[in-house]
Amino acid sequence: MDTATFNKRIKRVVITEEEIRAKIKEVGKQLSKEYDGKPLLVVSILKGAFVFMADMTRELSVPHEIDFMIASSYYEGTVSSGVVNIKLDLAHTDISNFHVLILEDIVDTGRTLKDVVHLLKGRKPLSIKVVTLLDKPDRRLVEFNPDISLFTIPDYFVIGYGLDCGEFFRNLPYIAEYNTEI
Ligand code: 5GP
Repeated sequence: MDTATFNKRIKRVVITEEEIRAKIKEVGKQLSKEYDGKPLLVVSILKGAFVFMADMTRELSVPHEIDFMIASSYYEGTVSSGVVNIKLDLAHTDISNFHVLILEDIVDTGRTLKDVVHLLKGRKPLSIKVVTLLDKPDRRLVEFNPDISLFTIPDYFVIGYGLDCGEFFRNLPYIAEYNTEI
């Protein structure tokens, strides 16, 4: 993609870098209190949550381990396929001695997280909690609610801060609305 097209695709900034940073600080404090003294495993769902993971874990003042999963319910582009694939599983083979905190970029239909939580619950962690950066509750197709949502947004396609369209735009430091009109 050339730079001119890249820039044209960014319709408007929806959540600024400063707003994201402030909210992550606030939630980081809350989670640090909650998990103090507990064995904690922070799991992020790649690729979209990699920036959120990096920023959120640095606001956690309590000791913790990290791990990753690749799970997706999306085809390339903006339309949900409705199929969830676990492409990469956790490196931790036994999570039964951990409180698991899942960090997700966005909850849309809810399918990915519902399946991931179900899968991980089966491995009997001490507890399991989901924190999502963004939530689009209007788009929900299955019953699933994250424990904490940093921002709730209406039904439009967003990019940036780890979120892509066709693998581009993950590097934007803010959340933007994607311009579908060009
Ligand atoms: P769900 O299973 O909840 O429908 O889908 C969650 C996944 O869909 C997210 O992790 C994300 O990868 C993708 N997704 C949903 N909405 C958006 C959006 O507005 N922008 C981008 N870039 N990805 C989205």
